[in-house]
Amino acid sequence: MALMDADVIRSAAALEDADILTNEPLSKHTSLGVGGPADLFVAPRSIAALAEVIRHATEAGVSYLVLGEGTNVIVQDGGVRGIVIHIGDNLSGISREGTQVTAQAGARVAMLCRQCCEWGLTGLEFAAGIPGSVGGALVMNAGAYDGEMSQVVDWVTAITPSGDMQRLARDELALTYRDSIFQHEDLTIAEAGFALEEGDAREVRARTYEVVESRCDTQPVAQRSAGSIFKRPDGDYAGRLLEASGAKGLQVGGATISEKHANFVVNCGGATAGDILGLIELVQQRVHDRFDIWLEPEVMVLGEADAPEGSDTGAG
Ligand SMILES: Cc1cc2nc3c(=O)[nH]c(=O)nc-3n(C[C@H](O)[C@H](O)[C@H](O)COP(=O)(O)OP(=O)(O)OC[C@H]3O[C@@H](n4cnc5c(N)ncnc54)[C@H](O)[C@@H]3O)c2cc1C
Repeated sequence: MALMDADVIRSAAALEDADILTNEPLSKHTSLGVGGPADLFVAPRSIAALAEVIRHATEAGVSYLVLGEGTNVIVQDGGVRGIVIHIGDNLSGISREGTQVTAQAGARVAMLCRQCCEWGLTGLEFAAGIPGSVGGALVMNAGAYDGEMSQVVDWVTAITPSGDMQRLARDELALTYRDSIFQHEDLTIAEAGFALEEGDAREVRARTYEVVESRCDTQPVAQRSAGSIFKRPDGDYAGRLLEASGAKGLQVGGATISEKHANFVVNCGGATAGDILGLIELVQQRVHDRFDIWLEPEVMVLGEADAPEGSDTGAG
């Protein structure tokens, strides 16, 4: 991005209500710990500021992409030209009216689940232990333990590239297995409503702990990963196919296939995005050679492979 573009955005009044960093290494903002720098990293402190940032970026012709907690992305080593809008702790309000819960997009799913435990509201227990933000969970229609966001979300407020707010009802969200309208249309999630039910607080808490514990037993939760790398193919499990193909323990640079769960790539130290993408391709090929199935990645690959000439990406 030309510096002038940054100046255009910086001068926007809306940015007074946002935290701004330049040349920010995205490895600091992704669970895999990889990713080159963002030219401009903007974390709005209000929904109005978020809408203004988007509107100014669009008007200035500067590209932007949204990052939640970065737990389902591989940001490439060249980083991101333009603006990364971080929707995280700055936009994390959670409130309740009866059994309707409203959460800003940057609220962590874990925090939402914890709050529901305290309120004795049932419906979101399946999501306990899914890392990331409410916005990211809706984009991915995140799910586990027979539940997914499509079962509990009631509405979403999204922002268009021109900065206008749009309220979408559940049946407008096109929520299917790890997919949603937000993967196909340029809409930024600002806030969402969840329709839950009154439950017994002790039972909600017990189910929540059970789910979290089960994750610790089956997933490499102490290591840097992006969760499941591949989607479930029809009638099978990516983890089973990968394990049967001998993928466990395979390594490219600092990236390795977890010994605990074959559908997890972990950064065992010093991995680059290039290592991770290389390993993904290697195991995709192995599964294809053995089963004639081409696994489809669940993780999103963002940014550019190469840094602009003459720049220091800070990667590595
Ligand atoms: C250890 C581990 C376990 C996991 N287990 C599960 C699991 O059980 N089930 C599951 O479904 N996933 C799982 N995941 C993957 C991940 O946690 C989820 O997909 C999560 O919902 C992503 O949220 P995020 O905020 O990190 O999104 P990010 O990774 O930041 O973003 C994901 C995508 O959404 C977009 N995005 C993010 N926020 C917004 C927004 N507000 N508006 C518009 N677009 C946005 C981004 O541009 C990107 O394309 C796991 C990950 C890890 C590391």
